[in-house]
Amino acid sequence: MTHNPSDESAAAMDRIMTNNRKWVEEKKAADPEYFHKLAEGQKPRYLFIGCSDSRVPASAITGTGPGEMFVHRNIANLVVHSDMNLLAVLQYAVEVLGVKDIMVVGHYGCGGVAAAASNKQYGLIDNWLTHIKDVVRLHETEFTSITDKEKQLRRLVELNVIEQVRNLTKTNIIQNAMQSVDPPRLHGLVYDINDGVLHDLKVEADDALNEFQHIYGIEDVKHAEEVAEDIQEGKVS
Ligand SMILES: [Zn+2]
Repeated sequence: MTHNPSDESAAAMDRIMTNNRKWVEEKKAADPEYFHKLAEGQKPRYLFIGCSDSRVPASAITGTGPGEMFVHRNIANLVVHSDMNLLAVLQYAVEVLGVKDIMVVGHYGCGGVAAAASNKQYGLIDNWLTHIKDVVRLHETEFTSITDKEKQLRRLVELNVIEQVRNLTKTNIIQNAMQSVDPPRLHGLVYDINDGVLHDLKVEADDALNEFQHIYGIEDVKHAEEVAEDIQEGKVS
């Protein structure tokens, strides 16, 4: 029998559709109102910023179901200030949905981190991975002091998570949210694909924000009346 890629694709997609119908029936059997309740709206407590790696499914590794977690994933779980996709997710999650816990989730064995630690060329993605090379540069002394290659990569996964949590604190979205009475908490976690365990790196986001306040700190946004006053008083022209 000849190998037919389109038959294989049809079977692979059949599996997805069959699984979906089975899941719908299971959910409705447990709670006939399940989908009606979800359709009313979402109020997730968590924002998950993780890697696109297929072995790190946000819901499965955290035991959360539909409606509980807002999710953004990209290669190597990066928080890049000019990434409109990430910023839109972050702003909507924080200011509209009011998420309470924001977690950056890296994982040991991350291909993106390994690629960034090498000098190989992979094409367009090299430009994205340069952000991880910047993490190496920031922690070069520690990074180069680790001689075991595997341990070095594991540490880089952790350092990358720490820096991405710090990157969150540099955004005006998080800085404004920190002024509220009940600000969201930031967390840095690493998932181990070897045993399925999540580890909390206990990243002190406030420390990072305070330490670099003179560089990344931003003043409250001025309202139109205040700007008008400043103009009248000749503070700005
Ligand atoms: Zn990864």
